[in-house]
Amino acid sequence: MKIAIVGGGIAGMSTAYYLKKFIPNASIELFERGSDIGGLAGVMNIGGTYIEKYYHHLFTHDKYYLDLVEELGLTESLIWKESKVGFYHNGVHYPFTTPFDLLRFKPLSFLNRIRFGLSSLLISKYKNLDKLEKITTEEFMVQFVGRQGWEVIWKPMLRIKFGENYNKIPAVWIWERIVQRFRSRSNGGQKEFLGYMKGSFHTLNKKLSDTLVEQGVKINLNSNIEEIIIEDNKCKGLVVNDLTHKFDYVICTTALPVYVNLCKNGPASYLNPLKTIEYDCALVVLMTLNKQVGDMYWLNIADNEIPFGGLIEHTNFIDKEEYNGKTLLYFSKYLSVNDPFLRESDENIVKNYINHLKNIYPAFNEDSIESYVVSRDRYAQPIWPMQYSKIKPDYKTPIEGLYLSNTSQIYPNDRGMNFSVKLGKEVSEVVRDTI
Ligand SMILES: Cc1cc2nc3c(=O)[nH]c(=O)nc-3n(C[C@H](O)[C@H](O)[C@H](O)COP(=O)(O)OP(=O)(O)OC[C@H]3O[C@@H](n4cnc5c(N)ncnc54)[C@H](O)[C@@H]3O)c2cc1C
Repeated sequence: MKIAIVGGGIAGMSTAYYLKKFIPNASIELFERGSDIGGLAGVMNIGGTYIEKYYHHLFTHDKYYLDLVEELGLTESLIWKESKVGFYHNGVHYPFTTPFDLLRFKPLSFLNRIRFGLSSLLISKYKNLDKLEKITTEEFMVQFVGRQGWEVIWKPMLRIKFGENYNKIPAVWIWERIVQRFRSRSNGGQKEFLGYMKGSFHTLNKKLSDTLVEQGVKINLNSNIEEIIIEDNKCKGLVVNDLTHKFDYVICTTALPVYVNLCKNGPASYLNPLKTIEYDCALVVLMTLNKQVGDMYWLNIADNEIPFGGLIEHTNFIDKEEYNGKTLLYFSKYLSVNDPFLRESDENIVKNYINHLKNIYPAFNEDSIESYVVSRDRYAQPIWPMQYSKIKPDYKTPIEGLYLSNTSQIYPNDRGMNFSVKLGKEVSEVVRDTI
């Protein structure tokens, strides 16, 4: 039995791993169009050290990812640290890590600070989930935190995650996220611990791909899938770099628009509704500097005039000694594919960002920048429409032998490495049970 997996991100590799576990005799091949595995959780090498193209950390409740870490014998490589979060509002920096920080958070009236503090508890008790699919995050959150709490805190945070699509997201997404974070904080006390891996998340990516190769999975890099061959509603294989490869089963883990395009001969009744799902792009700058910039790990930028939504100073989380004493600073931005900013040159983007950074941190000196990398990804974040559960695709598709497991199916959970591992595990269970 020959099985192909399309995509070498966490979902693709986890799918191969669990399939091998559930169906040991299957012959499995994985195809990744890039020159390395990892996808959105991929890394680059800066000064001899691996670092993610896009800032990454784990939460204590990331059960699926942590189970995989344990299975691969990497528990010793996990690092858990308290995170330091701040807010930049109207030119002022506010710490925003503990309940005491919230009590002192002047941009909200005192009453609204209390209201904000209680909101997580009240939201965690909310039960009418059907309704949450029909209203936006804004409509829902204003009920709990008030207009001021929404404008000052939640709206800027949603903009970091969804760019200008922040007001389209169904409330069930924020409900799910708040409930998870509330539970994980209640277990661990008031402070939040975030996770990372020694040597970056490349440590897991590499161990996972090495394990797959040892188990006989063939990993093909630089292998662009051009078509999923469908004849008479049956999946027959793949066209890879212009060559046809026959497979009994195909599991696709790419973003939905890529998948839909690959299914050239698929049924319109199945594919057309999927075409309505949009994705935001990610545009992330990573600067290497010879001087610390601020003292927060994560600074939310609550200011519409500033083109990036967050500053993530990685070396305020992981010791800069791991990076030859350098400071690593990410600038976060999600944007729609039509946004002209996406097509600005790297130089213009960085020049623009530096001007804003000088305002945010007056002590910052441009001469401290040693290098920078600008990374862009077209399909970074699905934008789920209202009542998405009605069209959310299943793992098993109506095309015989074809399965799908990608970030669009994580809803209403938050996209992340943890849920990509979950996708891999669940789609493998479905394949096993079907065949
Ligand atoms: C800015 C940013 C920050 C993030 N921060 C975090 C975080 O802190 N914690 C966290 O857990 N998660 C975070 N994530 C999310 C996390 O990276 C993703 O959810 C996860 O990596 C998705 O994995 P995946 O395998 O499902 O998809 P992808 O990583 O998108 O993998 C899909 C793969 O398919 C390949 N592919 C596409 N088309 C083809 C084709 N035609 N032929 C062959 N191969 C193809 C792609 O090259 C890619 O490697 C972040 C993401 C971004 C963008």
